[in-house]
Amino acid sequence: MFTILDNIADEALATTKFACDLGACKGACCTMPGGRGAPLDDAEVELLNDAIPASLPYLSERNRAIIAAKGAIEGRPGDYATRCINRRDCVFVYYENEVAKCAIEKAYFNGEVAFRKPLSCHLFPIRIDQVFDADYLRYEQIDECSEALANGERKGIPLYRFLKEAITRAYGEKFYKELATRIEKGQQKKV
Ligand code: SF4
Repeated sequence: MFTILDNIADEALATTKFACDLGACKGACCTMPGGRGAPLDDAEVELLNDAIPASLPYLSERNRAIIAAKGAIEGRPGDYATRCINRRDCVFVYYENEVAKCAIEKAYFNGEVAFRKPLSCHLFPIRIDQVFDADYLRYEQIDECSEALANGERKGIPLYRFLKEAITRAYGEKFYKELATRIEKGQQKKV
């Protein structure tokens, strides 16, 4: 662990090479078994609900019906998540060549909505925990990402750089710059 401004980062952000390989994992993080969809910050609930109409054309009839009947979000304040289907797929999943993808992100890239996807999805495989009243950016290693490790090694991309956009979205440019500078200069202050 090392400190970055007011938060804490996992050493793995610097030491782990990582680059998603969708052809190998088939978008497994959108279809993780366990009965829970993507964690949502309370502030994202309204943004996500606003993004539903733009995402519907990319979804299957089944997913559209579930959203219409039950809504796209489950949980309660402080513990919201996207709805999960059959204890597996996020309700916003659609398939392209057998790869699970996010319909909200598809609409975003088509210029149809301003919200890209939940921050927890954007940051994965980093998860945010609370440690010492600070955010702890923790690397979650799962078997489904094993090819991303090999791909990252081949391409020489460290995890923090692969997630530059998501980390900047979450914490701002100043934070990312500080993170990158500390790692590149080997100046991580251990917690
Ligand atoms: S985070 Fe892991 S499971 Fe998700 S797309 Fe990347 S390699 Fe696949």
